[in-house]
Order: sequence, then C-alpha cells, then structure tokens
Amino acid sequence: MWLLTPLGFAGKLLGAFRKQLSSLWGSLVPLLLWLRSAFWLAGTEGGQRQQGRKELKGTRQEEEASDDQPLTPTSVNYHFTRQCNYKCGFCFHTAKTSFVLPLEEAKRGLLMLREAGMEKINFSGGEPFLHERGDYLGKLVKFCKEDLGLPSVSIVSNGSLIRERWFKSYGEYLDILAISCDSFEEQVNVLIGRGQGNINHVENLQKLRKWCRDYKVAFKINSVINRFNVEEDMREHIKALNPVRWKVFQCLLLEGENTGEDALREAERFLISDEEFEDFLERHREVSCLVPESNQKMKDSYLILDEYMRFLNCTKGRKDPSKSILDVGVEEAIKFSGFDENMFLKRGGKYTWSKADLKLDW
Ligand code: SF4
Repeated sequence: MWLLTPLGFAGKLLGAFRKQLSSLWGSLVPLLLWLRSAFWLAGTEGGQRQQGRKELKGTRQEEEASDDQPLTPTSVNYHFTRQCNYKCGFCFHTAKTSFVLPLEEAKRGLLMLREAGMEKINFSGGEPFLHERGDYLGKLVKFCKEDLGLPSVSIVSNGSLIRERWFKSYGEYLDILAISCDSFEEQVNVLIGRGQGNINHVENLQKLRKWCRDYKVAFKINSVINRFNVEEDMREHIKALNPVRWKVFQCLLLEGENTGEDALREAERFLISDEEFEDFLERHREVSCLVPESNQKMKDSYLILDEYMRFLNCTKGRKDPSKSILDVGVEEAIKFSGFDENMFLKRGGKYTWSKADLKLDW
C-alpha cells in the first residue's frame, strides 16, 4: 500500500503531462531523423557518391577531388559475343572466344548494373545479330526496356543479318540502331573486310533505314576512318540516309585485338595520322549530325563489358579484364575498368538517347 501511493501519484503526474510530452516528441522526431541522415550521408558511400555527383558539376578542382569516388555505370557497352560474320582488318573486338552467357545470367548482370545506376545499355559484339539469329539479343533488349525500364537501349551491328521480323518482334523496345558503315564503295568494303558478296551495301543500308522509320527506331551510323576510306567523300550518302548521329572514329590500335603477337588482326596498315583524320572531318564539316572521335577521345571513355561481364580496362593500350560483375558485384569490378568519367562527359557521351525524347518525325 505504501508503494502504491507514490506510484499512483507518479502515474497521475505523467498522465497530466502526456499530451505536452507527446507533442514535444512529435516535433523532435523529424529533427532527429534529419540529423541521423545528415551524419549517415556524410560518413557513408552513398554520401560520398552524392557529393561526387555535385563535384562533377562544379569546378575543375572539385572534379579532380571526386576522382576517387565510386564510378557510376551510367552508359555501358555490353559485347556479349565476339563471334562475327565479317573479318574487318582493324576489328577492335575479335573472335577470341565463342562464349555467350546463358540468358538468365546476362539478365542478372543487367539488373545489377541497373541497380548501380545504369541508364543506357548498348549491345555490341562481334555481330550481335549472329547468336540465335538475333533472338537472344531481342530478349535482352525487351528485358532492358520492359523489366528494367532503361531510358535508352541501343545496338551496334554491321547490319548484314537483320531481318524485318526482328523489328516486328522487338523494334518497340529499341531506342537506337547504329549500323557500321565505313564506305559506300564496294571495293573499299572488300579491302576493309566488310565485303557483302551479293548484298549491295548501300541498298541494305537504305532498307535498314526504312525499317527504322517504320518501326520507330532512331537510326545511327558509325564509321571507322582508316587508310582505305580516308579520301572518300561521304557527304551525299550520309545526308540521304539522314541518321540522328554519325559517329566518326579514328582507327585505333589495341594490343591483343588488332596488334601484337597474340592478336587475330594486324591493323597497322589501316592507321591514319591525326592530320589525315582532321582533313576527313573538315571535308564533312557541313554534315550536322557528325560526332567525331579521335583516338584520344575514344581511349578510356567507354565502359566496356566483355562476354563474361568483365569490365575491359584499355588504359595500357590493351584490354585488361576485371573480375566479372556476376562474381564480385558492379562496385568492385568497376574499380578496375580504367573508365575516365570526365572524358566520357567531355566527348558528349551523355546525349539525348531515349527515342521518346528525340521527338523524331518518323
Ligand atoms: S563487323 Fe565489327 S565485330 Fe565484325 S569484324 Fe568488323 S569490326 Fe569486328
């Protein structure tokens, strides 16, 4: 009884102040949450990444300070196959293996990339339409657009194996189709290793262009300027095809791919000087969709994944693979990618890459 009296008194006292205490607690909760997230952000990876992003927008000094921040795989080039039906003499990604990941494993890796911040995926090879006659590629394209909701899904292909039925099945999920075209003269294509035999290269390009329009896919052209096409004037052909972008690369040597002892190609005879490349660009200056890419700009400004989903580091003039993202995760693997995010931004790597935003007059 002697115990109940003070307890009862304390209970009554608490009851009297409960309303005031709960309103005080209510106003403290947001403040405490804010303080906790502020400290957490400052001390964790997420905070470092957010700070890194801000720094990218800031001064050059600030950009340098962000160099050791985790990289974001905003735009990824996935070379899921090395097999190709052509034999271009300067090929940068040769048929050293015939490996292709099982579809579900490839999807798992793509999901991991999306979770790590990927916004654009580009499927390349080898020739991406070769494996399972383009069905494997189509399933990945559909998965990336429909399941992952990626803003941009694109393909680079030599164009020789694409059929209209592919557009019927998968065209709606594709933002951009880039076709490699190094020359409009069949003889030059034969010299390069892109001879199409009975197929007329220009006619094939026009057919692909039409399908892109019919199925609402943005059409792009990629050209590698080399010893055999450096004198060519492509202005009229390019203007007639009217691509959204014409990417013009300077032929590049990569040890183990197109130069060196264990390479499958010897690309030295294809090389041109920086001046010759500049002359080519000057001749085509009036083509407004031209996007030039010199060796310097190309180097290290692409995030490249090989057929095992390993990032390929080109900083030493060859492709040194990281561990697979499927084994160690994106954040760990990307540290070995050699990716230069500043150069990626400087070369205009981020552009309007979703067909919804391109506002094309199909
Ligand atoms: S089409 Fe592309 S992947 Fe095939 S050999 Fe030529 S450069 Fe290499």
